[in-house]
Amino acid sequence: MKKIPLLVCIMFADLLLIAQTPEQQAAALLKKMTLEEKVGQMTQVTFAVIAKGGWADTEGNIDSAALKKAIQEKHVGSILNVNAHAFTLDKWHEVIKKIQDEALTTRLKIPIVYGLDGMHGQTYTLNSTLFPHNLAIAATRNPEYVRAAAKVTANELRASGVRWNFAPVLDIGRQPLWSRFPETYGEDVYITRTMGAAAVRSYEEDGLKNPTAVASCLKHYIGYSGPRNGKDRTPSYIPEIELREYYLPSFRDAVKAGASTVMINSGEINGEPVHASKYLLTDVLKIELGFQGVVVTDWEDIKRLHDRHNVASSPRQAVVMAVNAGIDMSMVPSDFSFYDLLLEAVKLKEVPMSRIDDAVKRILALKYKLGLFDDPYPEAAAKANFGKPEYQTLALNAAREAMTLLKNKNNILPLAKNIKVLVAGPSAQSITALNGCWSYTWQGNNEQWYPADSKTILQAIQDKIGAANVSTSTMKGFNATENYNVASLKRAAEKADVIIMCIGEEAYAESPGNTRELALADEQVDLVKAAQLTGKPVILVLTQGRPRFITNIEPASGGILMAYWSGKKTAEAIADVLFGDYNPDGRLPFTYHRSMGEIVLYDRKPTEEVREVFNDNAGSGYDPLYPFGWGLSYTTFEYSDLQLSSSTLNGDAKMNISVTVKNTGSRAGKHAVELYTRDMYASITPSMRRLKAFQKINLNPGESKTVTFAIDKNDLAFVNAQLKTVTEAGEFEVMIGDKKAKFSYQ
Ligand code: BGC
Repeated sequence: MKKIPLLVCIMFADLLLIAQTPEQQAAALLKKMTLEEKVGQMTQVTFAVIAKGGWADTEGNIDSAALKKAIQEKHVGSILNVNAHAFTLDKWHEVIKKIQDEALTTRLKIPIVYGLDGMHGQTYTLNSTLFPHNLAIAATRNPEYVRAAAKVTANELRASGVRWNFAPVLDIGRQPLWSRFPETYGEDVYITRTMGAAAVRSYEEDGLKNPTAVASCLKHYIGYSGPRNGKDRTPSYIPEIELREYYLPSFRDAVKAGASTVMINSGEINGEPVHASKYLLTDVLKIELGFQGVVVTDWEDIKRLHDRHNVASSPRQAVVMAVNAGIDMSMVPSDFSFYDLLLEAVKLKEVPMSRIDDAVKRILALKYKLGLFDDPYPEAAAKANFGKPEYQTLALNAAREAMTLLKNKNNILPLAKNIKVLVAGPSAQSITALNGCWSYTWQGNNEQWYPADSKTILQAIQDKIGAANVSTSTMKGFNATENYNVASLKRAAEKADVIIMCIGEEAYAESPGNTRELALADEQVDLVKAAQLTGKPVILVLTQGRPRFITNIEPASGGILMAYWSGKKTAEAIADVLFGDYNPDGRLPFTYHRSMGEIVLYDRKPTEEVREVFNDNAGSGYDPLYPFGWGLSYTTFEYSDLQLSSSTLNGDAKMNISVTVKNTGSRAGKHAVELYTRDMYASITPSMRRLKAFQKINLNPGESKTVTFAIDKNDLAFVNAQLKTVTEAGEFEVMIGDKKAKFSYQ
């Protein structure tokens, strides 16, 4: 009689345990923790801290004593990065196993969450699949590639035993000098919002316990991409109205899409380092946006409040400022100073226990969600998802769809396959200049670590039209002096029908990518001019992460293909487009500026649209070399029959806007149809146009399709002088292709 209720009780308790949410599990565990254990969870160190020989290690060898110190003595909750280059899959398994073995011998057996930068594929596992960078993928105007590439990245991270990805980058690319421009989705708010949210969903939607998911990390909240002088990690001055209109929406949407973590901007806005801003971290991110996950610093950024930003007069004050502002975890990352200082600060009551408990609860909940408490080791089921052949096809298709044809004078492209071509320029025999940053190393500029079957543009063209039809004046590697030898170029050009000039930028990441000049390097300009002087047709292929000015070499170039840093299959995609096996359909996700004095973005204000020249009020103020959204095809598309379901949009109603697009050329082709709106008069000067929707379609020659968009008042909203997002009644214009129509909102 007595035994039954006890059994029922036990079963009931078990059920309760099962039904606990990760947050409840975290809260229960928190109660058992010492202050030291809590502060340790908030500490993230880099691999060098646990490596044999520290920073000198290049092979991923763990020093057991250092690991023990980090985990047992300092209770660290998280580890990140590699020292020098990507590891093999097996090495990762060995590394993660050792780390978790140590973590599971601690009093509370709290597993470590390991984090890596899988920015366009899993950067730090050898032979992972690299996809186009965000800038290039934005050119596809096809969120399906964002979704699919993020899924592969999640799979290959998880296969490596790593469950936290420091991606996606949601900074908006409105400063073309900035060295992290290629990591952005370009200058437009709508594209960044759409692509960013698609990435987050793809990383996380399977459920973080599943071996096909990883925790995402929105970065770098907020305003990082707008440094006034263009250099990385330098001050931005962004009025709140601009911050909310252009910089915040991508983070807001990605939080809604379920992002688990957010990384903070290393820079400062209006003189306040973001890591010290309680307003931005707590009031806006955690309260207004309702972000429930983990807020992690960027590299050393708490220390920098003291030693670089000079807003904290001591290292401890820096820790106090950041944690009280809302930081949950510190990427310290090369020592335990944060741990020691935070302990001191809590004991001195400079940081309240409630703040520590909140931070630790968030971290533990993430670990529960990720299934780390059930099994923290690399999962066999996940390992099987590494390096599947179909990932290569996906990488090729994404790269093809990114290719953006900027110029095609007299239809010089596509080239016939039976002509003689000279492939010249520094990126002709480079792998690194096709992949850019975060490619097997941080900078991505060491070819040694790339997969053996990576192709150069020269090889891809040889494969396409036969080696006998292809000559080159170049050598391997972007910086080889021979690549800039004008005399050899001229000699080699004699036997060629066409010169394909592969130019642009060698890979770079972060501050090493700061540039003194946005114009293309002089030696490359000289090379192109020499090629043009031969009288042979010249095609420019641009492999670069930002719009390097080519204004002085553009007029004499027959064709120009923007290839971006499009990942593993960049070379193959270039060859496919140049020789007509793929009909290009990429559209610029940024304005290709003409020169330093003409840096005006596409969503310009009316006063930027005009030039105040006597008798000339024509809209010539926006005068880029190629506008935002530009991209040619080998076929032609015609727009007709722009229809609005009503001439007035009322209140919360929706309006359908449709247009018919016809392929009027002789080739099948894909085409991104873009819908822009313009608010004719508003209380804050309206933009001349803002992108509000796009749809990618595929049309056979002669085929027509009607594309329908539904918009509502939210698509017409803007941030007003009171910092509220509002839609004001009045007249609007909708623009699709060369068609326009007016409607009103009331
Ligand atoms: C970058 C971050 C990155 C971190 C860890 C920093 O320097 O700004 O984007 O996630 O390093 O590698």
